[in-house]
Amino acid sequence: MKAMVLHGPNLPFELVDVPDPTPGPGEAVARVITCGSGLTIQHAKAGRRAITYPRIIGHEITAEIVAVGAGVSHLKIGDAVTAYYYLNCGHCRWCLANLEPLCAETGGNVGLECDGGYAEYIKLPAHIFIKLPETLDHRAHPAEFGVVTDALATPYKVLSRARIKPGESVAVIGAGGGVGIHQVMFAAWANARVIAVDVAADKFDACRKAGADVTIDPRSTDLVAALRDLTRGNGVDVVIDYVCTSATLEAGVKALGRRGRLVILGGAAQPFNLPAREMLLKELEVIGSRYVTRAEILATFDVVARREVWPLVTDIRPLAEAEAVHDRVERGAVTGRAALRIV
Ligand SMILES: [Zn+2]
Repeated sequence: MKAMVLHGPNLPFELVDVPDPTPGPGEAVARVITCGSGLTIQHAKAGRRAITYPRIIGHEITAEIVAVGAGVSHLKIGDAVTAYYYLNCGHCRWCLANLEPLCAETGGNVGLECDGGYAEYIKLPAHIFIKLPETLDHRAHPAEFGVVTDALATPYKVLSRARIKPGESVAVIGAGGGVGIHQVMFAAWANARVIAVDVAADKFDACRKAGADVTIDPRSTDLVAALRDLTRGNGVDVVIDYVCTSATLEAGVKALGRRGRLVILGGAAQPFNLPAREMLLKELEVIGSRYVTRAEILATFDVVARREVWPLVTDIRPLAEAEAVHDRVERGAVTGRAALRIV
């Protein structure tokens, strides 16, 4: 099969022929139609996330099962599938509690610790494949449905982690990013008042189209003062930080009103100082939110199937153009998600 292979950190992709994968017991192989190209996997390509080589990256797939190994009963040839991003064990107490992102015996990530979707075929443990709902026409919108497992499900989960209620004010820091813009969509879908914060002012039109009521560029205005002004001095109810530098996190806490919640996702993940007295007096909460459960992925697909939120994939190119797509991802030039079309 043709595969886009990485041979080391910060090296260009190489499009090469490698042997077709065959499923062992408990495994399945799928033909990949599209695979999303987000910043998470660009971190691996750029050498900011350690992986072993050679490696085929990519996890936001839409694919069709072509072979199943011995003992696999829940998948059959022709099934339309996507992939769960974590290689969770499926049997630890966290997996059994339907909290798979907290798996105590995780094998890492699809496309990082095992080969992923930048190839004609992908082989995974069968339980990592998730069947797409039959209500979705996966051949009509493969790139859109492929990115649901991460770029949409991750922000969907934040609605419940932060207990966002209709009418609350929600500031999204990093709103112009591939996941951030879907966070804007989901916060608007939850009937919150959405404030999009980003240094990429060229993304503000897209943020408004995604449902942002207001946009703030923290390079040209004081972020905390702006968020207080927008809430008549009360402070915002929820800050969702996809940038997570010490500066954004500390500004996020300062901008919270009474009973405010700060949600920490990925980004720089820098340490930061918390004002204990203010947290006590205002009953503030700081909440970590990582990847999602399978149940949250299926719930996100329900929202997409009803077209209440639709994935924003603006740059779909053939596999051979992976290098150009990743160059754009690295520069923050993509609005929403990019994806590669394999077949
Ligand atoms: Zn587990």
